[in-house]
Amino acid sequence: MRLLDVRHDSVSIGASIKNAYIDFSEMSVSVVALVTDVIRDGRRVIGYGFSSHGRYAVNGLLAGRFIPRLLNAEERDLVHEVNGTETFNPVRALEVLMKNEKPGGHGERATAVGVLDMALWDAASKVVGKPLADHLSDVFDLEPPEERIAVYAAGGYYSADKSTRQLRDELKAYLDAGFESVKIKVGGAPIVEDLKRIEAAIDVVGSGGNVAVDANGRFDLASALEFAKEIEPYDLKWFEEPGDPHDFVLQAALGSSYKGAFATGENLFASAEARNLVRHAGLNPQKDFLQFDPVLSYGIVEYVRTLEMLDTYGWSPRRCIPHGGHQLSLHLAAAMRLGGNEAYPGVFLPFGGFGDAAKLQGGYVDRPKEPGIGLESNARLFEVLAGLVEQDQFQ
Ligand code: MG
Repeated sequence: MRLLDVRHDSVSIGASIKNAYIDFSEMSVSVVALVTDVIRDGRRVIGYGFSSHGRYAVNGLLAGRFIPRLLNAEERDLVHEVNGTETFNPVRALEVLMKNEKPGGHGERATAVGVLDMALWDAASKVVGKPLADHLSDVFDLEPPEERIAVYAAGGYYSADKSTRQLRDELKAYLDAGFESVKIKVGGAPIVEDLKRIEAAIDVVGSGGNVAVDANGRFDLASALEFAKEIEPYDLKWFEEPGDPHDFVLQAALGSSYKGAFATGENLFASAEARNLVRHAGLNPQKDFLQFDPVLSYGIVEYVRTLEMLDTYGWSPRRCIPHGGHQLSLHLAAAMRLGGNEAYPGVFLPFGGFGDAAKLQGGYVDRPKEPGIGLESNARLFEVLAGLVEQDQFQ
């Protein structure tokens, strides 16, 4: 059992939206296809992955370093047996990928490794013929996966001339689609305007407890404190990334005055960084949320290590709600009993959605049941992924 080739490309997500910090119009995503020598049900097993949005495509790192390491690995370093069936082994593959990499300085290599980890898990679970969540339960010796995953609609972006009326319509459409809670951006407009947007959101969804706000690291301590004081009476679902993601002193200072919940972690890319966060940022494992994105932070294998680390600091997996809104994290949430997953209905297409037939009701989505991650069930996304290997000798 071996990899015949690893294809990769960079794809634009070209979204004309903004948060408080960046404009997404030039944002790109890396897509990969691991072509294997395994045939299942008459079809070649191909593992697909794509990097989560918010960081740019990492094809230089993939081509220059990480794909060659994978292709040059010995078969024994990439394959293991799970319940008597031989399949690919992303746990060992992480060691292969990280050979000769110094600790620290995680940056964009964490994305390059994460996208390959995603494709490896897709291939591994397709080889055993199971949905990824079931395969994760087998590999990590867990209880059977949960059937439904709590999701919230992440939207409420800024865009040119977007009115409060349009924001209301957007959020109403999320409720109509089956979501119960939403997230909107803050920090990119004068505070008076942001407060109006928050009040409009609360009016649409019915309570502050179903509205999260995300400042994308925009505030310094003084402006974060001012903003926190203004929003505290709303009793919001959470206040996300108030300041710089690595400014744990700011986070701790803010936490000593704001009584509501915080959420952060999407811009921390390794277990070691997550550990610093829970050690030093004054977060509360009873009320706050952690949003590490597995694809941006070395993948599922590293994420499982992060969960083990968090346990030693008193954090339940239920406090973890990954950033990214991709199907990979639906499987992870189902298998690891996380608190839920982000969703981007209609945003960052074709990367921001679940399967076309995904059933959403009461704020929960059913877990995907196709073998692998199930990216084939998202027609627009799969068209992009399949383009990596179509019309060649591997089909
Ligand atoms: Mg965020």
